[in-house]
Amino acid sequence: MIIYEHGTLVTVDPQRRIITDGALAVEGGRFIAIDKTQVLRERFPAEPRTDLQGKVVTPGLINTHVHLAQAMIRGCADDMELLDWLGKRVWVLQGNYSEEDGRASAELCILEMLKSGTTAFVECMLAERYGFDGIAEVVVHSGIRAALSKIVMDVATYATKDSWMHPGMVEDRETTLKNTLAMYDKWDGAGNGRLAVWFGPRTPGGVTPELYREISELARERDMGITVHLAEVQADRTYLKEHFGQTPAQFAEHVGLVGPRVLLVHMVWLDANDIDILARTGTHVSHNPASNAKLASGIAPVPEMLAAGVNVALGTDGGPSNNTYDVVREMRWASYVHKARTLDPMVTPAEAALEMATINGAKAMGLENEIGSLEVGKQADFVAFDLDKPRLTPSMNPVSTLVCAATGADVDTVVIGGRIVVQAGHALTMDEERILREARERAAAVWRRAGIEFKPSWPII
Ligand SMILES: [Zn+2]
Repeated sequence: MIIYEHGTLVTVDPQRRIITDGALAVEGGRFIAIDKTQVLRERFPAEPRTDLQGKVVTPGLINTHVHLAQAMIRGCADDMELLDWLGKRVWVLQGNYSEEDGRASAELCILEMLKSGTTAFVECMLAERYGFDGIAEVVVHSGIRAALSKIVMDVATYATKDSWMHPGMVEDRETTLKNTLAMYDKWDGAGNGRLAVWFGPRTPGGVTPELYREISELARERDMGITVHLAEVQADRTYLKEHFGQTPAQFAEHVGLVGPRVLLVHMVWLDANDIDILARTGTHVSHNPASNAKLASGIAPVPEMLAAGVNVALGTDGGPSNNTYDVVREMRWASYVHKARTLDPMVTPAEAALEMATINGAKAMGLENEIGSLEVGKQADFVAFDLDKPRLTPSMNPVSTLVCAATGADVDTVVIGGRIVVQAGHALTMDEERILREARERAAAVWRRAGIEFKPSWPII
C-alpha cells in the first residue's frame, strides 16, 4: 500500500469534487481511500507516502481515437485534401510497413501517450501487416490500457472517389474476420485485463452493409467493442445518401452499428435526427477536433450532442492528421472550437473538455466502473501535473489551467493500476532512447521503400 498526499485532486467523481491538500491511498492497484491528507494520515499513520505538493492530480486521460501506425509518419501529409492525403501519402507509406515497423510505431506512439498523461486508448484500425502480436506485446509491457481494434473490410474503395487503396492496405473479408476473432481469443484480457480486442471495420465504402451486420452480430455474441470512422467529411454523408438514401446515424442503425458497445468516430456531418438516434441508442462518439480542423473536415456538433445526452469522448486521431497524440492539447481544442462556431462563449467549458477526456472516455470503452475518475474501488489510474511554471501561474481553477494553459509536457507522474509508469517526466517502462532512434531509422526506410520524396514548402539548405 502507498499513500500519495498533498495534491490538488480533480476527482471527476459524481459530485465533481476538487480536494485541496488531498491524498490517495492505493492498494492492490486500486484506490482504497481518497480524502484530505490529514484524514488519511490519521487513518494510515505508518504507510509509505509520496509527496505531490504543488501538483494537480486528475484521472488518467483517455484517448478514444488513435492510429498507432501513424506515429512514425507524423507530418507526412500536411496541407493536403483528405482523399489525396490518404491515397498519395498515408496509405502508400503504411502499405510499405513491415511488422517491425508496426511495432516500432506503436512503441513511439505509446511512449508519447504515457508521457503526456494518457493511461488508456482505443486503437481503431490495425492492419494485418502491422503485426497484431508485436503491438499487443508492447501494450502489455508498457503498462498502458488499450482496446486494439483490428481492421475488417471487404471492398477496397473509400467513399465517393474511385481511389483504389494501395495494394499493401487491401485485405479480404475471410482473413480479416477470422484473424480478428483469433486475436480476440488470444489477447482479450491480457495484461491483467488491461488489453481488450475490438472490431475496427473500415468506413462505409470499404465495407458492405452485410459485413457490418455480421460484425455487429459477432461482437454482440462476445460483448466486443466496435469502432468505426463515420460522417468525417461531407462526402461521407453524400455517399450514404446516394447509395442507401440514409443519413449517417440512420445507416449506422440500419447495419447494427449503434448501442453501448459502439464508438463512432468524428461524427461531423450530422443533423438533429442523427443526434436523436445516437442518444436513443446509447451510442458513443469520439470527437477529434484538431484532426477535423487540420483536414478541413468541419466541426462536429458537440454542444448539440451533449445537450441531447450523447456520450462524447475525446480522441487525437493520428500523426498525419493532428500531428500529436497529446490529449491535454486536444482538450483545449475541444473547449475552444465550439465557442468559435456557435458564437457562444458558454458552450464546452474547460470542465466539459476534461469530462470528455476522462469519464466520458471510460464510458466509451465500457470501463466506467473501472477508470475515468478518482473514486474508491476504481483502478488507480491517475496523472500528476506540475503547475509550478510561469505560464501556469496563477491557477485560480485547476481545471481551467489544465485545459486552457497546460500541455502534455507538464505531466510529472503517471500511474496505471497502481504501477508508476512515468516519474518526474521520465518513462519507467519503455526505453526512450532506443525507441526514438529506431523510429527515425525505420521512418526513413519506409519513405524510401514507398518511393516518395518528402519536400517541405520552404527550401532546406
Ligand atoms: Zn482516424
